[in-house]
Amino acid sequence: MPTKTKVKANRWDAQRKKLLDKQKQMMDSYARDRAAGNEQPEDGIQDLADKAANAYSKELNFSLSDADRDTLMQIDEALERLKENMYGSCANCSSDISEKRLEAVPWATLCIDCQELQEKGLL
Ligand SMILES: [Zn+2]
Repeated sequence: MPTKTKVKANRWDAQRKKLLDKQKQMMDSYARDRAAGNEQPEDGIQDLADKAANAYSKELNFSLSDADRDTLMQIDEALERLKENMYGSCANCSSDISEKRLEAVPWATLCIDCQELQEKGLL
């Protein structure tokens, strides 16, 4: 007789796999861009402050867009919630997130209503 926790964990196996796949895919492309960025020739005459500023903006500019960074953070959060058996319920109002929504957006941590509120800046 499987425990309740186990049943619940298995229920989301497909979602977990999707999350991990997506995370890997995003990290891979991040790593590739990072490597490409490091190949850019250094300008030998810039002073330290410039260099620091440059490194900083370079770090930020590695092709991960804001949206990608958000997605990665949401994937992290979703994986955490899987661990804590909280996956599939809204982080704000605790109602169930529809399975359709989770299929489309496996890292969704808000139900559609709360997501709308968040997009309007009301959350
Ligand atoms: Zn909600």
